Amino acid sequence: MSNYWNEEIECMSYEDMRKLQSERLVAQVKHVYENVPYYKNLMDEKGVTPDDIQSVDDLHKLPFLTKADLRDAYPYGLLAKPLSECVRIQSTSGTTGKRVVAFYTQNDIELWENCCARAIVAVGGTKEDVCQVCYGYGLFTGGPGLNGGSHKVGCLTLPMSSGNTERQIQFMTDLGSTILCCTPSYAAYIGETLHEMGYTTDDIKLKAGIFGAEPWTEEMRHEIEKSLGIKAYDIYGLTETSGPGVAFECSEQTGMHINEDNFIPEIINPDTGEVLPDGEVGELVFTSITKEAFPLLRYRTRDLCVLSRKKCSCGRTLIKMSKPMGRSDDMMIIRGVNVFPSQIETVLIEQGYTPNYLIEVDRVNNTDTIDVNVEMNPEQLSDKVKDMQQQERALAEAMKTMLGINPKVHLVPPKSITRSEGKAVRVIDRRKLHD
Ligand code: ADP
Ligand code: ZN
Repeated sequence: MSNYWNEEIECMSYEDMRKLQSERLVAQVKHVYENVPYYKNLMDEKGVTPDDIQSVDDLHKLPFLTKADLRDAYPYGLLAKPLSECVRIQSTSGTTGKRVVAFYTQNDIELWENCCARAIVAVGGTKEDVCQVCYGYGLFTGGPGLNGGSHKVGCLTLPMSSGNTERQIQFMTDLGSTILCCTPSYAAYIGETLHEMGYTTDDIKLKAGIFGAEPWTEEMRHEIEKSLGIKAYDIYGLTETSGPGVAFECSEQTGMHINEDNFIPEIINPDTGEVLPDGEVGELVFTSITKEAFPLLRYRTRDLCVLSRKKCSCGRTLIKMSKPMGRSDDMMIIRGVNVFPSQIETVLIEQGYTPNYLIEVDRVNNTDTIDVNVEMNPEQLSDKVKDMQQQERALAEAMKTMLGINPKVHLVPPKSITRSEGKAVRVIDRRKLHD
């Protein structure tokens, strides 16, 4: 049986893919120029016309779009189809500010669900599977996207949405869910609750998880795989380009294949906008070449990652993106040193702690301070204060070695850090309040 949802596209030769992308790009630029005055103005300002774009090689000539543009043009300013042809809106989670809305025609929904179907098939999903979707349903794209993909593959779909974790586990055990879709932080919470309820991995039939919508580390992947007895796969997407399914992981688990027939990726230097070669870390930029209602050209995601065309053992030829290490906005600059929450997560799990932590950043007397609150396992809980201080010092030392910063570490009691049912909040930066 084929492992692909659409083998012709997923295994297309590089030359054929470039040709397909070029054709679609040329048509898309024309469509946008003629229908989106906001973007036409940007192109006019840059002195670019649709005639200048003859193939993917000309992509770099187009202006960028940023989240600020989306907020500026809110709500209808980037719409490229009459509202009467739109059938849905979805909205960002608002993790980094005001929400933006995205519009979909019937065809846009179809294409998006196909992308999610590819992700499900890539983890081994078939019509025999029971797919439990515990991403939030509603304006957030996670639930509706994976729900649609699951229907397309023909899985028995459990539209759980997030929350009510004991009920999630009851359905999982009663109905024999085989694929779990949610954020990685919620997957960790589900695993924790499963064991607390007295179950083991023998009591569930899960084989794979499709986890995304937030950054997570390899260490976290291993934790979840152990606790749920599954293989945990990454999935990436953003509302602005459709939702989850822009990129998905395959059996090789060394990055996510980008659905290049719909989205052309570029990596740029975030400071200069210069396009960087494959293999270099930079900001990911997407051009939607098939979307009708809300086709963003050269949209700056603010996610930092690397692209690779290295041959993949799964047989797919679609380019791969590395796990984003975080958004440029997530990066904390602590006394001049760049730190990502994901780096702290790596240290914690390596040192035997759970991925339950909260980072607090502040500025005292003009100096940045960073406090990392780390939850202990019940076994780590020691009633000897001296032991705890030693453990805190050891953790701070490990972070200093890895990150070059010297945080204050506070071990906190089991269960004292709020669990996430959606996107986890890992950082509270109080410096912003002083600015
Ligand atoms: P918001 O930007 O408000 O969070 P979205 O819900 O559209 O809105 O989230 C999209 C963002 O989520 C991406 O730009 C990226 O930063 C993050 N994201 C999505 N999937 C992943 C993933 N697999 N790994 C890391 N980050 C991810
Ligand atoms: Zn692959």
